[in-house]
Amino acid sequence: MIDVVKLNKSFGDHHVLKDISVTIEKGERVVIIGPSGSGKSTFLRCLNCMEDPTSGQVIFEGVNIADLSVNINTYRERIGMVFQHFNLFNNKTVLENIMLSPYLVEKKKMKKAKKDNFFHKLGMKKHPYTENIPSAKDIKAQKKEEAMVLLKRIGLEEKANAYPSTLSGGQKQRIAIIRSLAMHPEVILFDEPTSALDPEMVGEVLELMKELAEENMTMVVVTHEMGFAKEAATRVIFMDDGRMVEENTPAEFFLNPKTDRCKEFLSKVLV
Ligand code: ADP
Ligand code: MG
Repeated sequence: MIDVVKLNKSFGDHHVLKDISVTIEKGERVVIIGPSGSGKSTFLRCLNCMEDPTSGQVIFEGVNIADLSVNINTYRERIGMVFQHFNLFNNKTVLENIMLSPYLVEKKKMKKAKKDNFFHKLGMKKHPYTENIPSAKDIKAQKKEEAMVLLKRIGLEEKANAYPSTLSGGQKQRIAIIRSLAMHPEVILFDEPTSALDPEMVGEVLELMKELAEENMTMVVVTHEMGFAKEAATRVIFMDDGRMVEENTPAEFFLNPKTDRCKEFLSKVLV
């Protein structure tokens, strides 16, 4: 699904990602661990082109999305991202947060279909004719319904009209996760999704992530939650100083870390 080929990223003369090559298959749950500053967030941000690689390729379903001539927006819709600090829109309600992107995407499609129909009627046949184009109002109603189904899934339907500032961290992060799901992404990237949460809220977020894992969602997760890695990962990768130093199945990884650097890191986090 994603082939990263010799990915390098520098900020000025700071070489942050060093020749990373890795493949992420559909249905995999890859957990990335490693010390602070090792380049984990930068790697995730390169996967969905929030950062432009300095060199190398990020091939998503056969297309090098690191190529600046590719329309990256269509790919960003297919690659979800969940952040440490939730990144909800604080001036929008929970429902609006979830609906907004799916609504805008559908509306854009609707406008394109209308335009194509117009050219079709002019006899320019290369534009396919679309029957029954929904109105903006229809799209809004449909996206609202879909958002409510997702809110019900996490038991927060009564928060639909609340603003994010009134929610707990655990609720915010679960909403950020279903907001990402509302786009029907093919893969979701998680950057330390539980690191900003009070300890008592970590569990509810990990539970939702484990549910997604059980549904075979493709996930790339940067986390310090070793329990999640053991339970839900298909593969664990240890990053250090801009390189992927070690990777293995969770069972092997935790039982037999190979490098001294990885052993040392694990001895600190597995207390
Ligand atoms: P991690 O997520 O593993 O803690 P990051 O990917 O956030 O690591 O950062 C790796 C290194 O890149 C750090 O030294 C950080 O300071 C640097 N870095 C990250 N983003 C930027 C940026 N936008 N500009 C300059 N340096 C950056
Ligand atoms: Mg980080």
